[in-house]
Amino acid sequence: MANRDYSVRQLLEMEACTNCQICADICPAVLASEDGKLSAVYRMKGLKQILKSRTGLFRKLFAKKEPSEQQWKHLSETVFRCTLCGNCQEICPVGINLKELWVSLRQDLVHSNAYPQKIDMIRSNLERSHNVFNEENEERSLWVEDMDEPPEHGYIKESAEVVYFTGCVASYFPLAQRIPMALAQILEVCDADFTLLGEHEWCCGFPMLGAGIKDLFVEFAEHNLDAVRKKGAKQVIFACPSCYQMWREYYPKEFAINHATEYFLKLISEKQIRFKELSMKVTYHDPCDLGRGARVFDAPREVIRSIPGITFKELAANRENCKCCGGGGNLEMIDGRLSADIAKRKIEEVLATGAEAVVTACQQCVRTMTTYVRRNKIPLKVMDITELIHRALKKE
Ligand code: SF4
Ligand code: SF4
Repeated sequence: MANRDYSVRQLLEMEACTNCQICADICPAVLASEDGKLSAVYRMKGLKQILKSRTGLFRKLFAKKEPSEQQWKHLSETVFRCTLCGNCQEICPVGINLKELWVSLRQDLVHSNAYPQKIDMIRSNLERSHNVFNEENEERSLWVEDMDEPPEHGYIKESAEVVYFTGCVASYFPLAQRIPMALAQILEVCDADFTLLGEHEWCCGFPMLGAGIKDLFVEFAEHNLDAVRKKGAKQVIFACPSCYQMWREYYPKEFAINHATEYFLKLISEKQIRFKELSMKVTYHDPCDLGRGARVFDAPREVIRSIPGITFKELAANRENCKCCGGGGNLEMIDGRLSADIAKRKIEEVLATGAEAVVTACQQCVRTMTTYVRRNKIPLKVMDITELIHRALKKE
């Protein structure tokens, strides 16, 4: 295999690594596992060795051997146990785009046949059912039926101004379905002209990048774009930061796109969303893809602060330094234990604020943190920001 999964910029960036090891000190996977082999710096060294030993000229000049099966295995074990949280990239003093590098490395490992078997399952699920969980895609908006008094059209209209792109996790996981339910009810109270894509929504492509199977992406993106076009919509909104990030970075710029927190903030400023008093002490967890990924830090905080009666306390590590909850990078599928160990540290940090609830803006963070607090009977509420808005919403 050649080094074709890496851009020239990436190959140059790798050479700039100074081995300062700062990235190891902040990596949530390293901190939770106490295993330095999960760090960016360790991975970088292994990757550089492999890339050099693959280059024909280099092999001839320096008598290097082809990468061994053991080398591949080490590399695969470290990069597929990374949450792709981007904290290493944020802190790297020489500015290496590390998150993007880990995505390219995963792609390389798939091309080199050195990847966890679960990746095959992710691929076949996507190919068969167009969602990552192998559920029937016709059932994407079945959650609407569980709402109190759902409208006859089930939020699927022929045409609308705004499309709410729901995402796989919020569509299928009962624990996360409270997010689209709350979001749809808020939009209804505001009289917003919106629709779901229902069975015509396919996976946004994010799990493909994380799994190293980017070759599937184009077909899915084209399908989703076409589905939005058919609704005549001008805007697409997302409660899922990963879907939002995919549309921001990988889809052509055809529609206005916003994360729900940005969209809601606008509705609040236009007085279309009005709040009653809600007496609660909360903290906020920045989802990696919304915060470090999309640089949306202020909108969720402004939304929270605009609710009367709320006491807001920041986490010790917040905004661009916020620690991952353990739910990113397909880690839950590859190493559920490590994912839970990362969640444990997150919840400890939340509890130190004295907040009664941790608010976030991502269904995967909600799932990971809720699963941990429920399993360990910790008296802490985990809420998505849409649920908080819904709870404080003045309905007339
Ligand atoms: S992306 Fe996050 S989990 Fe992965 S190596 Fe970097 S800091 Fe660690
Ligand atoms: S922080 Fe950047 S320069 Fe320092 S070891 Fe990590 S990747 Fe290399």
